[in-house]
Amino acid sequence: MRRSRYFLPTLKETPAEAQIASHRLMLRAGMIRQSSAGIYSWLPLGLRVLRNVEQIVREEQDAAGCQELLMPTIQPGELWRESGRYDDYGKEMLRITDRHDRAMLYGPTHEEVITDIFRSYIKSYRDLPKNLYQIQWKFRDEVRPRFGVMRGREFLMKDNYSFDLDKEGARNSYDNMYATYLKTFARMGLRAVPVKADPGAIGGDMSHEFHILAETGESAVYYDAAFDDVDLSGSAGSIAGLQSLYAAADDKHDAKNCPVPPERLRNARGIEVGHIFYFGTKYSAPMGAVVTGPNGESITVEMGSYGIGVSRLVGAIIEAYHDDAGIMWPAAVAPFQVGLINLKAGDAACDEACEEIYATFLEHSVDVLYDDRAESPGAKFADMDLIGLPWQVVVGPRGLKSGKIEIKERHSGERQELSRDALFARLPGDLDRGPGLALLAG
Ligand code: ATP
Ligand code: MG
Repeated sequence: MRRSRYFLPTLKETPAEAQIASHRLMLRAGMIRQSSAGIYSWLPLGLRVLRNVEQIVREEQDAAGCQELLMPTIQPGELWRESGRYDDYGKEMLRITDRHDRAMLYGPTHEEVITDIFRSYIKSYRDLPKNLYQIQWKFRDEVRPRFGVMRGREFLMKDNYSFDLDKEGARNSYDNMYATYLKTFARMGLRAVPVKADPGAIGGDMSHEFHILAETGESAVYYDAAFDDVDLSGSAGSIAGLQSLYAAADDKHDAKNCPVPPERLRNARGIEVGHIFYFGTKYSAPMGAVVTGPNGESITVEMGSYGIGVSRLVGAIIEAYHDDAGIMWPAAVAPFQVGLINLKAGDAACDEACEEIYATFLEHSVDVLYDDRAESPGAKFADMDLIGLPWQVVVGPRGLKSGKIEIKERHSGERQELSRDALFARLPGDLDRGPGLALLAG
């Protein structure tokens, strides 16, 4: 992508309304634009990141045996009357009346719709278990939308629903999602601590929230210091072991009965990026989601739901990865892998070298943003640091005279000078996402 043609409205000034780093940086980097309180447009750069996050979530859901579908944002009120939640949900639900005076609503969540789909088609125990998910916009009329996309009113969620024959099956579905969440967040470069949450009326221990620890987090979490030494990527160690380590959200934490001695108890702020929840027959019983068992008996299915805040994650990743100059994207979610800076657009040698490098990147499917504008070098450096692409390739007249091109790694700030040939020699045949350009740095 050529920067001169790209719609990327970066801002020099810090917007006054933004209280936390991720919100400030998303506005300054031209990622989002507020439309009304808690409701945002995603501009091209922001959308690229949102899509990358979404794709990681999707790949891990698919790998865990779940199937994607897509349910409507607008739902009929009558389904919520069946589950008994229509009146209970309160003011967070945006209620709409259609032209025939039917009660409709913009879905804050989708248990009712998925249960209705399930009961319409699935009739036999042989069809269980089932794990269905979607990535869809939700609306919750939050009292205090704030912190940009972190607490929006309209936000993108991955919501998954499991259907099992019995409690043991439901436990398997739950553990499967628990492990999947750890992998999902680790792929984005995040350490998400699974903390026990309030399981609601069902009781038991099958409700966890996944928190990114950050000072700007809205929740208080308490956890065993042992967590600090644990590999949370989900690929190592026993999950069962992890679930036995103490970590609780403040509504669940009871200082008097806490099993962790005070010297080992940590108290931190967390950003809730995911929530997994077993709720038994809470919806299947009133809505009649039943299957026929092996002996012809009728069995009310056991359900769970599993959410990930996809749009909130974009903010949470920035909270974890930024410095004074701007964002520092982990490669797995970066909007482009490389920013190519032409320090003297219009200079024949610089233009020629940049065009060649740009074409070579494209040929190797490396996502590259080429800053070909006639701006000052300082402005270009500042902009590139702000939008936080993992790699910067800097081409200027002085370097070119001695045959050198500079490479900067955004995370470490490390710079290296390479010859043009060395730069290309380090391009592997099929650079893709992930460690990808690490090869570039040699
Ligand atoms: P919170 O406690 O932050 O209000 P919640 O417990 O109401 O969230 P869930 O119903 O568990 O949220 O939704 C699943 C996920 O959706 C949450 O873990 C969070 O990451 C995300 N989410 C919830 N509300 C919002 C919001 N207003 N804006 C952005 N993301 C949200
Ligand atoms: Mg929650």
